[in-house]
Amino acid sequence: MISLHTSPLAQPGEGDCGGMNVYVRELAASLAQGGVPVSVYVRAWRDGLPSRLQVEPHFEVVHVAAGPMSMAKEDLPGVLDAFADGVATDLAARGRLAPSVLHANYWLSGVAAHRLKHRLSMPLVTTFHTLAAVKSEAGDPEPTERERAEREVIGCSDRICAANALEAAHLIDLYDADPERIEIAAPGVDRAFFSPGDQGGARRALGLPSGVPLLVFVGRIQPLKGLELAVSALAELRDPTTQLLVVGGPSGREGADELRRVEARIAALGLAGRVRFVDPQPHHLLSTYYRAADVCVVPSRSESFGLVALEAAACGTPVVASAVGGLTGLVEDGATGRLVAGRDPSIWAAAIDDVMSDPARRARLGRAAVRLSHRFGWASTAARLRRVYADLSVERVPASCGVGA
Ligand code: UDP
Repeated sequence: MISLHTSPLAQPGEGDCGGMNVYVRELAASLAQGGVPVSVYVRAWRDGLPSRLQVEPHFEVVHVAAGPMSMAKEDLPGVLDAFADGVATDLAARGRLAPSVLHANYWLSGVAAHRLKHRLSMPLVTTFHTLAAVKSEAGDPEPTERERAEREVIGCSDRICAANALEAAHLIDLYDADPERIEIAAPGVDRAFFSPGDQGGARRALGLPSGVPLLVFVGRIQPLKGLELAVSALAELRDPTTQLLVVGGPSGREGADELRRVEARIAALGLAGRVRFVDPQPHHLLSTYYRAADVCVVPSRSESFGLVALEAAACGTPVVASAVGGLTGLVEDGATGRLVAGRDPSIWAAAIDDVMSDPARRARLGRAAVRLSHRFGWASTAARLRRVYADLSVERVPASCGVGA
């Protein structure tokens, strides 16, 4: 696996670390547990990292030197060649034990892996996680270079892994992807950690008051994630004692500005005592936060999947989410939570009130959410990918597209 810009071992929830880190780590671990050895190649991003790190049997992380240790994500296109060289050297040194399939994550890894595909005649699977054209449509434009590069990688990937039918449709409609090469493999949730539990116990563990209506927002703080909308909706809820817990930190070019905007909105709406920020938490501790909350809010402007919505559901916490992207497959409106169209805070407040106002209904929604979450598991994701890798090891690699060699 290629995970150039961020490590599966890094803390998700701020900076460049989020769902992709969780995806690569959980998928690699499930593959390894199923007998498929996985090496995850990551750009060395700080001093003192070992060149290889055995995470568990059959799952290692390999750090490849390419460019200065600390680099902004925007500058990484300048070191893709150096990174691909480093991966090629490592693969060559492994001889017969070298992996037989490349699986790239995110467009930057896709570009590097595309070069490796041609250089080493290896089949290439790509998971994009997000697509520039979809982000642009949602009002978050990306540099045109990214969309062009995605198009090139999509044109030459032997398989493109989509999280759901909607992402597959985006790949086909916006990027002319070959439908035959698209494989739908939904991400999963680890039910050993994310399962229902006692709300009172969770609140005591976190030092939160009992009896206070509580919303939780989990994830990176950047405009795309819509925290400002959650704050505006909080001000319009029927119960003025409701609190909002925010777990995560600023992310990306606009992260710090977004946090300032959110803080200004909190002050302007007089909500200072009702919103609490918590630093990013280790993934396996998040279940306590989900269990403590009455509702998990996911007000993203776009979302190819939406792991947070699935994790909350697995903990039995109803989710109120934007009716966009992958979230539409993780929340059943009126059955496991609410899907909200548009970004009007009063409509969001009404949807949250609808779930909060009747404890018996909220419990019913929570139970249905747990049932829905059972449709997703990393072992199934890994099983599907295992079949894809096996097919590709016997298929002829498609003819060179003429780029990246
Ligand atoms: N996450 C975490 N700790 C935090 C905040 C978030 O482990 O403090 C994880 C969260 O559990 C989820 C991932 O980060 O698995 C975010 O994934 P999602 O698909 O919701 O958003 P993305 O980051 O991919 O945009």
